Amino acid sequence: MGKIVKVSGPLVVAEGLSDAGMADVVLVGAEGLRGEILTMTGDRASIQVYEETAGLGPGAEVTTTGSPLSVELGPGLLENIYDGIQRPLEEIRKLTGATLTRGVNVPALNRTKKWAFKATAKAGEAVQAGDIIGTVQETSAIEHRVMVPYGVAGTIAEIKSGDYTVEGVVAKIKTASGEVSDITLMQKWGVRKGRPYKKKNLPATPLQSGQRVIDTLFPLAKGGTAAVPGPFGSGKTVVQHALAKWSDVDVVVYIGCGERGNEMTDVLTEFPELTDPRSGEPLMKRTVLIANTSDMPVAAREASIYTGITIAEYYRDMGYDVAVIADSTSRWAEALREMSGRLEEMPGEEGYPAYLSSRLAQFYERAGAVDCLSSDKKPRKGTLTAIGAVSPQGGDTSEPVSQATLRIVKVFWGLDAALARARHFPAINWSSSYSLYLDNLRPWYDKELGEVFLKKRAKAVAILQEEVGLLEIVKLVGQDSLSPADRLTLETAKMLREDFLQQNAFVDIDSYSSYDRQHRLLTLILRYDELARPVINARNQKELFALASRALISRAKTVGADTYVSAYDKISDDLKSQIAAIASGGESE
Ligand code: ADP
Repeated sequence: MGKIVKVSGPLVVAEGLSDAGMADVVLVGAEGLRGEILTMTGDRASIQVYEETAGLGPGAEVTTTGSPLSVELGPGLLENIYDGIQRPLEEIRKLTGATLTRGVNVPALNRTKKWAFKATAKAGEAVQAGDIIGTVQETSAIEHRVMVPYGVAGTIAEIKSGDYTVEGVVAKIKTASGEVSDITLMQKWGVRKGRPYKKKNLPATPLQSGQRVIDTLFPLAKGGTAAVPGPFGSGKTVVQHALAKWSDVDVVVYIGCGERGNEMTDVLTEFPELTDPRSGEPLMKRTVLIANTSDMPVAAREASIYTGITIAEYYRDMGYDVAVIADSTSRWAEALREMSGRLEEMPGEEGYPAYLSSRLAQFYERAGAVDCLSSDKKPRKGTLTAIGAVSPQGGDTSEPVSQATLRIVKVFWGLDAALARARHFPAINWSSSYSLYLDNLRPWYDKELGEVFLKKRAKAVAILQEEVGLLEIVKLVGQDSLSPADRLTLETAKMLREDFLQQNAFVDIDSYSSYDRQHRLLTLILRYDELARPVINARNQKELFALASRALISRAKTVGADTYVSAYDKISDDLKSQIAAIASGGESE
């Protein structure tokens, strides 16, 4: 047992901890506040404490639990709201009222609730880590697959369907050495270490968000990484909600590290009210929320992203597609900076510790498309996609957290305050954003949408780029200096921006767009350009821009889901005849 020698905010230094190891969780003071050992020299340990340390002083006792910071994994995670060290906020509130009371210890998973376990494996079967031995219907949306925990292998001696608490023994596995392992619905995992898998594969399937600017221009792959900066009022919340609601993933883990208290309270009240548009059920049925409000100490915020991603890995291991949304990693990095400062470490850029970028990398590295652990011949596939919001002070992305993030992630959706002010939503800037997954995803696109799709995408990007240059010229010498062809480019770019990239999250039919629909809409806009370009001249340009069918394109995104195919075909045919008429009229003049 050790004794405190110094307290500095969330950091406590204790001596006499020779029995403790690096990264052990310790209990501090009479209230048994939880903390984690950050560094050790001899028997002297620096400990970050996850709860308010007021009232602690030298001499108070510190004991080690002997195990690292871990989470409980099992049925009951979904629909739950946890703090950064996986304490269930609702349960605690029921016990102590609105504010978190120190030292309360409520288990992360309910110990009395019974779950109907359906055994899928049989006694006598040889199993190893990761093998699924049964299922529990955790919520209406997700079947929980009960896996043999890491480190266990052998023959099933006993297994029985029935109602169990998370601690009930559903199966016994006899190992090669003759020992018997009890398997429960719950397992534990240390959060700082990624959960193992068999093999990491290149992400090769797009995460379909239904957002045109994302899916068509800057796609994210399932198992990939993305960052989205969020200047205030730029529509960050709307984008995150759209991703959580519409992405074709099974499970979403949302990690909220709000700085101001109200930021997180928004999430805590908003998220539970979202409905899953596909099932009509509450989105929480397939969501786990990790929340750090401002009244929680920085250390818990530091831990939260590990807690969140470990839970996400657990569902990935079951063979699900999982998305982690961390909002915001800037607040997380500030917690890291504060702890580093108190440890009196040598500060790096802007006071952040030198290991900032390696810690960020460790988080994003845990994303991936993997073959899960199992003895199955055909590998079970799971993906974990990591999306991190960055909220640099004043929106300036030259600061260390943004810069380190951009070096790691493969997709960047640059939310832009100026676009938001101009009511262009989603305010993702098409000039500064990028996706490095296009090559990985090419086979998927070629197969699902045809080789033309990426060609059309490239064409659209080229037109939007050309627009930037042309607008510069217009600013300098005016519209009249442009050739009819350049003016057509400006027209098409405008259509791409207004009729394709803009997407209203609050109009049902527009809030989600399937790939097929995105492809057809893009085709329609480019078709106008293709048909008009060979015939446009100074005399007919006005007429071409005022075409009746062109006006219809601007409303094409709100055409009903069951009629859009025929409606777009009709517009396409009409474009052809109308433009042909203008062209021949021009010749006969
Ligand atoms: P932030 O979280 O970045 O401060 P919000 O996500 O709350 O900003 O967005 C601010 C406002 O912008 C919203 O209330 C809404 O009116 C508008 N907005 C953002 N995205 C969209 C969208 N895709 N469609 C329509 N309106 C949007």
